[in-house]
Amino acid sequence: MPIPEEFIQELKSRNDIVDVVAAYVNLKRSGRNMVGLCPFHNEKTPSFNVSRENEFFYCFGCGAGGDVITFIKKAENLDYIDAVKFLAQRAGMSMPEDSRDSGLAHLKNRIYEANREAARFYHKQLYTPEGKQALDYLRKRNLSEKTIIHFGLGYSPPSRFELVNHLKSKGFTNQEIIQANLANLSKKGYPFDRFSDRVMFPIIDLRGNVIAFGGRIMSDIKPKYLNTSDTPVFNKSRNLFALQFAKNKAKGQLILVEGYMDVIALHQAGFENTVATLGTSLTQEQALIIKRYCDEVVICYDADEAGQKATSRAIAILRGVDLHIRVLRVPDGKDPDEYIKNHGEQGAARFRMLLDKSSNDIQFRLDSLKKQYHLELSDQRVEYLTEAVKVLAQLDSSIEQDVYLSELSNELNVEKQAVKMQMQKYQKRQFRDARKKEQRDIYDAMTAKNDKINSEKFYNLRAANAEEGLISLIMKNPDTAKQIFRQLSPGQFMTSFNRKVYEILKKHSESGGECTMTCISGEFSNEETGSIARILASRPRENDPGRAAEEYIRILTEENEKMTPEQIAQADTQTIMEQLRKLKEKKK
Ligand SMILES: [Zn+2]
Repeated sequence: MPIPEEFIQELKSRNDIVDVVAAYVNLKRSGRNMVGLCPFHNEKTPSFNVSRENEFFYCFGCGAGGDVITFIKKAENLDYIDAVKFLAQRAGMSMPEDSRDSGLAHLKNRIYEANREAARFYHKQLYTPEGKQALDYLRKRNLSEKTIIHFGLGYSPPSRFELVNHLKSKGFTNQEIIQANLANLSKKGYPFDRFSDRVMFPIIDLRGNVIAFGGRIMSDIKPKYLNTSDTPVFNKSRNLFALQFAKNKAKGQLILVEGYMDVIALHQAGFENTVATLGTSLTQEQALIIKRYCDEVVICYDADEAGQKATSRAIAILRGVDLHIRVLRVPDGKDPDEYIKNHGEQGAARFRMLLDKSSNDIQFRLDSLKKQYHLELSDQRVEYLTEAVKVLAQLDSSIEQDVYLSELSNELNVEKQAVKMQMQKYQKRQFRDARKKEQRDIYDAMTAKNDKINSEKFYNLRAANAEEGLISLIMKNPDTAKQIFRQLSPGQFMTSFNRKVYEILKKHSESGGECTMTCISGEFSNEETGSIARILASRPRENDPGRAAEEYIRILTEENEKMTPEQIAQADTQTIMEQLRKLKEKKK
């Protein structure tokens, strides 16, 4: 890593991990640690721990863990250098000279600049004779001048070279223009504009960078919508259109729509808490981002069949991250943009009414479910009932549950008590399955059965546990660390992951650095820092670290001397006798 350790230490001291995490997670004190609901997986009881003292976080539920930099990497979807920059900015520090222009960071900056320049270029094109048709289109959709500017809308001219030439005249290289996905490469090897004859919608991230574009075609050519493919600064499954505006207007609720035009029409009508996915169906990553800004999502997709299917998928994903869901249906098969436009001045008021009338997702799910069965046949009625109670079982409110149970029993002409029993049976089974899974997970964690980071642990459990004890001691007790480094060479570690951690800690210590999470996290992946955080989180504080170190070193020496099954198979009798004698001596 090109960033000097002194800088990282300063960064860390100015970005207290508890303060940083508290901006994302509601933390409560619990003993020496702070705990809260994990932002990286869905849970109802808090298993996300933050230790101010030892500068790390760890989730016992999903295994996410690390230092303050790892946290920002994960929470903001940044790479290491950008996460450091993020924290430096937060603390008002400027980055050290030599790290500023590392290859990838430099390329990303150039892509941001090229995108910004392209957005300006496209916007200007709207007001040229060529762009008139596009401007007319936007005006016909009732968009005001203010809205067009607010969203930075634009037009990409039909010539295939205008943007490329413009960017080149501003000093961008072919390579940069192609990496930004603003141009494609022809068979003959020259770049040409990716977007032509399209209304352009810039996609902007939460920090105000233009990261991509969506383009709607003006002619009949397919596809109707074309988006930027993933680039070093853009991943379509991790961004949402207009979130940079909507996040400050959410007040607990976001409206989720399908298209750019729906978002823009709703914002103009005063519903500035509206966002859209970027030409794909909703992903779990997007749902977790949404969850940061609200508790409730109103899904308002198109009324056609595709839109209704997308609604079902979105419900499943949003439920998965524990968000409240409402479903808004626009009448007459219209999409929200058309609906508002068709009602002219009353559009906003009418949409507000629809919003107030929107119901929770249970009704939507029961309705979609019902369509799959012929309820006049008794066996189909039973099947519908079996599936319907599974939906009701997910309701948190018992009053709501009761209302739906009554409706269901009336509808199917079945005793309410029988319907209720069916639901409770399902709930019991679910509870039992969850308990079983929990026990299995605990067992697997204890035996390191599925440890992906340290796959050798399962076969060297005693040694690996001692190794982890030593790593934890080193990171928590600087005095004991020196003693361990003197006594133990990395070669004595039996599992390679723990050996790598030990080597890096030793190297840091020998060059006068600290053995904390923050100082070493740059050398590990997110999953690896998660593993190190687990080591720290799962070990209690030692009362006598020196003695504990001696004990771990003794175990490790003993395990090193044990012969492997292969060695035993190849050894002669004398060697085996010698080994046994040694073992006996130790027992005395
Ligand atoms: Zn978690």
